[in-house]
Amino acid sequence: MKYYGRICHDLSDITDEKILKTLPGVTIVNDKYKCNQCTNTDQRMFYHYYCYHCNKETIYCRSCIQLGKVQSCKNIYVIESHREETSGYFKLDFKLSPQQELASQKVSEAILSHSPLLLHAVTGAGKTEMIFEGISKARRKGYNVAVVSPRVDVVKEVYLRLKQAFVDEQIDLLYEGQIAKFNSTFIVSTVHQLMRYYQHFDVVIVDEVDAFPLEMDNQLMTTISKATRIQSSHIYLTATPNKQLRSLFKEHQIITLPARYHGHPLPVPEFHYNIVKTTKINHKLLKFLKRQVNENRKTFVFFHDINYMESVFKLYTQYFSKIECVSSQDPERHEKVSRLRNNEVDIMFTTTILERGVTLPALDVVVIRTDMFTSSAIIQIAGRVGRKTSNPTGNVICYNKGITKEMDLARKEIMSMNKLAKERGWLK
Ligand SMILES: [Zn+2]
Ligand SMILES: [Zn+2]
Repeated sequence: MKYYGRICHDLSDITDEKILKTLPGVTIVNDKYKCNQCTNTDQRMFYHYYCYHCNKETIYCRSCIQLGKVQSCKNIYVIESHREETSGYFKLDFKLSPQQELASQKVSEAILSHSPLLLHAVTGAGKTEMIFEGISKARRKGYNVAVVSPRVDVVKEVYLRLKQAFVDEQIDLLYEGQIAKFNSTFIVSTVHQLMRYYQHFDVVIVDEVDAFPLEMDNQLMTTISKATRIQSSHIYLTATPNKQLRSLFKEHQIITLPARYHGHPLPVPEFHYNIVKTTKINHKLLKFLKRQVNENRKTFVFFHDINYMESVFKLYTQYFSKIECVSSQDPERHEKVSRLRNNEVDIMFTTTILERGVTLPALDVVVIRTDMFTSSAIIQIAGRVGRKTSNPTGNVICYNKGITKEMDLARKEIMSMNKLAKERGWLK
């Protein structure tokens, strides 16, 4: 394994790699601290203590502490980048949909011309396959490729799919606790791990860009520009681009992909007047859930709040044997999601933790207190339904006292995507 294009803390880690720059971990620029590992300049993130090696105060950066501490009294080394060409071979067992073909061509063009691109693709459009051809072309030219995502579970899943297709490539998987094994010519990683690199990547593909916490927006862009070469292509994939993201692209750099890969329309949310209380059973919900179990369908019931969810959950456990409740705070969340995938759960009460990632056949969703969800969250939740070719339809039931602006926006957006897909002849 080589440290090409990386920031190295210890020279004993490298062999014949060339050092591009040697600099202190933290420096002072215009009277302000700057971290040379993560480029952080937020002064609140710098701490100091007395260093007994140097017999003076030392400053370190808390912002990137997970990547290894960098401090003012210790140097870091920027290692020269390097390119290696491969055959770019990948295998794909099925034919791309016409929409995927178009997207694939746009991605390739952007990569070869070092241009930015935003793919606004609906949930279930088959985004991963759209990037295969572009990655292949990049690797044939020796371009270094990074595929990044905000969430570790998404990173792992994308890695597995790329690994299955690009069987000959040495793909590095990086997240907290998982480090590079190869030469970083092709990596799949969390954005945080991208901070380890300096002007190394020719292509960065950011999956599910809307899933980043808002406060990360600025850091995200800085991290990406530091890790990529001056001439490079940055490609963003999302089902729900916000205004800020859109504003970074010119009209022709945004591609709208309204169809699902199986050619069936997106399920449109149904709005029902219904208030679910923590003190007594809601008969409308109970009746719906019983019917679901009888018809052998799975249900996700979404809540905006953990305490509210747990109180409601207790009321329903006596009626069903395969019912569970999960949130990001749940230490058993990974086991519960595995049980879900193994068909051991019929009804899952959940927070937005299941808004992405898990794809099940014959799934319907219920949203409780829909007024507490943004239009993006509603679109993502609705996007869980009808993902499989064998089960391309399903229900998105939204319970609320009325219809909020965000609910209306979500439904309009979904309907306009279906209309566009139909106009383009991409629906069955
Ligand atoms: Zn830092
Ligand atoms: Zn020191």
